[in-house]
Amino acid sequence: MRSIGLIGGMSWESTILYYKIVNTVVRNRLGGLHSARCILWSFDFDEIVRLQREGDWQRATERMIDAAAALERAGADVAVICTNTMHKMFDAVSAAIGIPMIHIADPTAERIKSAGLSKIGLLATRFTMEDDFYVGRLIGRHGLNVLTPPATDRAVVHEIIFDELCRGIVRDESRTRLQSMIARMAEDGAEGIILGCTELCLLLGQEHSPLPIFDTTVIHAETAAEWALRTEPAPAMPG
Ligand code: GLU
Repeated sequence: MRSIGLIGGMSWESTILYYKIVNTVVRNRLGGLHSARCILWSFDFDEIVRLQREGDWQRATERMIDAAAALERAGADVAVICTNTMHKMFDAVSAAIGIPMIHIADPTAERIKSAGLSKIGLLATRFTMEDDFYVGRLIGRHGLNVLTPPATDRAVVHEIIFDELCRGIVRDESRTRLQSMIARMAEDGAEGIILGCTELCLLLGQEHSPLPIFDTTVIHAETAAEWALRTEPAPAMPG
């Protein structure tokens, strides 16, 4: 089994889910007392949110590269960024280290395509919904048709993520608001919904949506664990 490097703490509310999922996959696969070999770098999220708000993506990229390089030095065989938003600097981080990385959008898109779907709604931070790094990859690399909510709704999702979920607050009213957005995207033809923020699964599950849900936290963590369990040398990275 190879070691998974987790770049986490963004927020830790979702990083604990990654930790649980990678360990569960390994235990289910190998049985007994087996658990995942992993190394966690956990940021003080306040530092990262300040850089996001200031638009200092250069510094944010440097900090992400510091974390990935530290995980590599510590013996990680693969690195995963445990947040969708910070995949904004995926290419730069990936180019700066010598171990492979798994982009969160790639296995997510693969699952959507395997389910036979092509028109997909995205709920995420404003950065992920509005910048090109994520939607552009889903469209350009995977051929998906991506719907996002209108600007006022995008602001609401963003607030729910940072003001509630990243602080461990789960509100029924917020779930209801997201359900209304899902219903509107369904009317516009969405066939499924990407939970494109690693905390959204704290609020929304399949039981809350008439459309199939694609939870990036589960998909990304499961993919990392499966990768770590593969035994053949130098496997190709997903996507
Ligand atoms: N965890 C969230 C995401 O998946 C948001 C936190 C962040 O800005 O990194 O995008």
